[in-house]
Amino acid sequence: MKKVLSFDIDQTLNIAKTPIPPEIAELLVRCLNFYEICPISGQKFEQFLLQIVDELRKAGVTEEQLTHLHLFAAQGTQYYRYDLSAHDWEQVYNYPLAEEDVVKITTVLEQAAKKLGYWEEDKLLPGDQIIENRLSQVTFSALGQAMGTSEKYDWDPDCKKREAIVAECQKLLPDFLYEIGGTTSINVARPGMNKEFGMTHLLEELGVDKSEVLYFGDMTQPGGNDYPVVQMGVDTITVRSHEDTAYALRGILGVTE
Ligand SMILES: [Mg+2]
Repeated sequence: MKKVLSFDIDQTLNIAKTPIPPEIAELLVRCLNFYEICPISGQKFEQFLLQIVDELRKAGVTEEQLTHLHLFAAQGTQYYRYDLSAHDWEQVYNYPLAEEDVVKITTVLEQAAKKLGYWEEDKLLPGDQIIENRLSQVTFSALGQAMGTSEKYDWDPDCKKREAIVAECQKLLPDFLYEIGGTTSINVARPGMNKEFGMTHLLEELGVDKSEVLYFGDMTQPGGNDYPVVQMGVDTITVRSHEDTAYALRGILGVTE
């Protein structure tokens, strides 16, 4: 019997970088009556609020339901839960990268992308940046954070550019973990700081066995950022988009409600 429904965010609950659509918000609110809901993503906590929590509020989520929502930000290296008495989110744990590691990773990503001709600084929107320190990981987003979704889709649909950047980085700085995610992103962290870390802590914090978790992700292939969860032996549903996720959730609710 599953107690926990856990989700990747980008391309699993939404179109990358956008808020979850109303249909997903409505389905998640219903799921909160029966399951602990645990999004795990490379995004920052603030993005979880914008992309998920704000939309759940629009769909009528109650404070009591929010206590069953567990936010595993930065691949689960940060965990937030809702504190009913404070009416706010509290950070339960945080495992940040050392500042010297952030500098090393940032330098190598820029070097590799420039060498390969994939450093697209001239295409950035004003105020945007290619490399972002997300505390527990450094994230390369080839066209920045704010670029439109279709431009992002078109940049590297077969992941070949990012695979080349990762191969170059691994030569220069081998002792880190490189993962391809989203549509233009590469996440870099300390080894072990991937979704396996997040899922392992999720099991511990929620006091559940991995057999009680059902995970949804779009990058479940080897090398994808959802693959570590698959490797752990957690039951996983591979989706192509949030539409597949909605379809599966309607099925789950159909046998639960
Ligand atoms: Mg994804």
